Amino acid sequence: MAILDAYSELRGSLDGNVYLDEPMNRRTSYQIGGPVSLFVECASVHDLQVCLTVAAAEQMPWAVIGRGSNLLVHDQGWRGMVLTLTGQFKEIVLGEVDGATVPLVAGSGVILANLVQTAFKNGFSGFEFAVGIPGTLGGALVMNAGTSTEGIGAIVASLTVYRPEVGLLRVQGYELPWEYRCSGITPGDIIVEAELLAKPSNVAQIQGRMEALLGRRKATQPLNKPSAGSVFRNPPGDSAGAIIEGLGFKGYRVGGAEVSSKHANFIVNNGSATAADVLAIIREIRHRVKEEYGTELQTEVQFIGFEETKTTN
Ligand SMILES: Cc1cc2nc3c(=O)[nH]c(=O)nc-3n(C[C@H](O)[C@H](O)[C@H](O)COP(=O)(O)OP(=O)(O)OC[C@H]3O[C@@H](n4cnc5c(N)ncnc54)[C@H](O)[C@@H]3O)c2cc1C
Repeated sequence: MAILDAYSELRGSLDGNVYLDEPMNRRTSYQIGGPVSLFVECASVHDLQVCLTVAAAEQMPWAVIGRGSNLLVHDQGWRGMVLTLTGQFKEIVLGEVDGATVPLVAGSGVILANLVQTAFKNGFSGFEFAVGIPGTLGGALVMNAGTSTEGIGAIVASLTVYRPEVGLLRVQGYELPWEYRCSGITPGDIIVEAELLAKPSNVAQIQGRMEALLGRRKATQPLNKPSAGSVFRNPPGDSAGAIIEGLGFKGYRVGGAEVSSKHANFIVNNGSATAADVLAIIREIRHRVKEEYGTELQTEVQFIGFEETKTTN
């Protein structure tokens, strides 16, 4: 694989930046992960086209990420191209109020917190559930991020995706299943933009709801240590955190990684954790849960560089 050739070609033709051997501990909320061969900040649809053409020509695997807040990257990194969206993908455009709703069109590279704040400042409700969820709009859409009762899919009117070898396509929100932590978008599609529907509302009410949700987060989540949020999906009708806590895992450590004593579904980085440490805990929890309850816990966290490399949609 001609990584240097790909690097030279990208450097000469992109609107955004390209980095060679970029350490992923700088690019993930876990602050863990070795270097990926190429890390590209795509600033335009043209950049996406160029990157995917180069990746195909060099037979290089690629993945798109947001802020890496739901990602575990291998300690040895990954021989592939990682794309992230910036530039034109960071715009938010507010539409006109149309009856009871108002459309917000936002690029996938927008930080979710900025979207939540924009909606709040303009008196639009519908985004409160997302307060305190790290990452980008793109990552939130793919993961159908949210709380135990609400997901972002519920406010999606439409998505614009870039499909390799096809180009830009519009997908209506109702065409996707929007299941628990899963949008159901076609694997390989890159979400570039979304039209989201908010409702004009009372600013004080929006603020009250956001403060209550943030308070709950602070009380229940270990926000003072690097993590990727909940590691496992809740099994149907059950709570992964409660199951893990019930098995006595709180405080369980491998190397620099630890099952949080505040929330058993969070594995935190105590400062020196490696991806191998985190994975060892994941495997031990899955093993014990299977042994005790016969349940196969599924991970919510996504992987890059492992055998189970998974950046699923
Ligand atoms: C402290 C903490 C608390 C959290 N709390 C919550 C919570 O309450 N609810 C919740 O749902 N999540 C939570 N998370 C997890 C995480 O914040 C969400 O999953 C978030 O939506 C991920 O966004 P991201 O931009 O960082 O995506 P990444 O982690 O970078 O990527 C996640 C997945 O999305 C894919 N992806 C990203 N962008 C695109 C795109 N444009 N097109 C196609 N695929 C893309 C990636 O390939 C990957 O598979 C929490 C995480 C932390 C660290």
